[in-house]
Amino acid sequence: MVETQQALLGMKDVVFSYLKDPVLKNVSLNIKPGEIIGVIGPNGSGKSTLLKLLAGIIKCKSGQIDYKGSNICSMKRKDIAAAVSWIPQENPMVFAFRVIDVVMMGRHPYLSALNFENEQDYIIVQDAMERTGTAQFARRLFNDISSGERQRVLIASAIAQEPELMLLDEPTSALDIKYQIEILMILKRLNETRNMSVVLAMHDLHLASRFCRRLILLNCGEIVADGAPADVLQKDILEKVYGISVNIFAKDDGAFIVTPEV
Ligand code: ADP
Ligand code: MG
Repeated sequence: MVETQQALLGMKDVVFSYLKDPVLKNVSLNIKPGEIIGVIGPNGSGKSTLLKLLAGIIKCKSGQIDYKGSNICSMKRKDIAAAVSWIPQENPMVFAFRVIDVVMMGRHPYLSALNFENEQDYIIVQDAMERTGTAQFARRLFNDISSGERQRVLIASAIAQEPELMLLDEPTSALDIKYQIEILMILKRLNETRNMSVVLAMHDLHLASRFCRRLILLNCGEIVADGAPADVLQKDILEKVYGISVNIFAKDDGAFIVTPEV
């Protein structure tokens, strides 16, 4: 079992490789209930791989991943899905489904083959659509809405799943600044009202420092810093990891702006 009793999800000495060389090397971390954690790091540093391992989508080669003290390798996929939702980096192409059907898919872990959705499922789905401002296009086809709207629908589906932990892989990368803030505010509200934990991979260091009290910085499959934004977003650390000179400005609200030095 991973050290801390109170961890929701814990990784201990996890190593993962797709091919020969490991892309995650001896990664250990604990996610506590109610945390909002930003996973940052250059392209190819292992952010998506880390999230997929936490979601139980892929299995580690060595080391251990525990969900509330149980090894996730021994848990059923459906049980993991009821507790942990994962929104991948690429929008899955869900062809001829209406938005409401995509959100209802979030209820899948709770439905059995013979058990169709009931009134309670519809109430949960409606609530998830209202929280994300997607109820207005519930009957439209998923493919016929904008990418920002799709992202919100996917989050609605994850909310309908009623997870204890939501893992989001670059949820804001394809969005304009209005939707970026909107999505992050939705997550913050869920965190505050349901104590839902959130782990999100991000590239925008300013948004990450604004919304996450804890940042995990990955480089070449290793955690090089894990802590408060002020401790992680250090000039020497970022310059080493990203390989460029940067300027860092502290804002009054506790966030940081990182700009490349030209
Ligand atoms: P990030 O999300 O930080 O950009 P990834 O976790 O996607 O990083 O990738 C980490 C490393 O694993 C990269 O070197 C990438 O090329 C490699 N990788 C990712 N997915 C696969 C895959 N399906 N097969 C082989 N290598 C992969
Ligand atoms: Mg990625």
